[in-house]
Amino acid sequence: MGKFKFAFYWAASCGGCEIAVLDTDEKILDVVEKADIVFWPVAIDVKKKNVEAFQDKSIDVCFFNGAIRTSENEEMAHLLRKKSKVLVSFGACACFGGIPGLANVSNREEIFTLVYKELPSVVNPGGVTPQTSYKAPEGELTLPVIYDTVKALHQVVDVDYFLPGCPPTPELITKAVTAIFEGNLPPKGSTLAPEKALCEECPLEIVEKKIPEVKRPYEVSPDGKRCLLEQGLICMGINTRSGCGAQCIKANMPCRGCMGPTPEVSDQGAKLISAIASILGVEGEETKSDEETARLISQIRDPLGTFYRYTLPVSLLKRKVMQK
Ligand code: SF4
Ligand code: SF4
Repeated sequence: MGKFKFAFYWAASCGGCEIAVLDTDEKILDVVEKADIVFWPVAIDVKKKNVEAFQDKSIDVCFFNGAIRTSENEEMAHLLRKKSKVLVSFGACACFGGIPGLANVSNREEIFTLVYKELPSVVNPGGVTPQTSYKAPEGELTLPVIYDTVKALHQVVDVDYFLPGCPPTPELITKAVTAIFEGNLPPKGSTLAPEKALCEECPLEIVEKKIPEVKRPYEVSPDGKRCLLEQGLICMGINTRSGCGAQCIKANMPCRGCMGPTPEVSDQGAKLISAIASILGVEGEETKSDEETARLISQIRDPLGTFYRYTLPVSLLKRKVMQK
């Protein structure tokens, strides 16, 4: 068999997933030995028209990172789906919508108004916002349409595998690439990461069953031994998929859920809200007054950004309902 043909693409994301590929260090040389990278806009100069000229299904594996935020993201998702035998949703933004997906609490008009007209640092006397078409003397210039709603990759095209994380760790990437080379991939639709919850690979000890107060990271100096949740920090390890090596926990930061939910959980945020509600309070206390409940809830400063930081577009809510 000849060399594999790989493609990498960057849609609506920060670019960290591209760096994660390079973080595989010398193992990237094994990839280059066994695979030709036929499309990777951040690294090689292959144009969209070149990809359009590829035969259908001629790319063996395409690693697609980033959410679907614009018409260009969607167009490239359809093109790369058509040209690839295997399409991998790579990273939290492609798998769940990720950080860009938090924009689903708003819409394009509100975002443009804030960013181009209202922010204190903006000087825009004409109130100009991005247009999709502009007739310049030299000809028409176009920009992609920014959508009101951010979507995960599988919400617009068929996806074969999911490789989550913000970004996916070099270990998980290497394992996935090895499985591809050895023809050892799991069934279509699988997530290429362990199924168990992060708490199961966490080195910290769970002692208490209740958390009396919720705190923010700057208010706590974790003792390095006890579960961060017990120390008042909202940690999403309970229902977040493992595989990252608990790297945030080892740096004394609570898990934010970037590996997405464990397989049995359909809504990562709702599940954690339910779990936190059941352990918030004092040991032995059966009921709480409404005032005490309100006080504890008010300690969670950013519920949406805490519980749905990476998964709003694939949650039951998906987005805020906007007035037309
Ligand atoms: S909640 Fe967080 S800190 Fe506690 S055991 Fe789970 S992953 Fe570790
Ligand atoms: S600890 Fe949580 S937020 Fe941090 S890398 Fe792991 S899954 Fe992601």
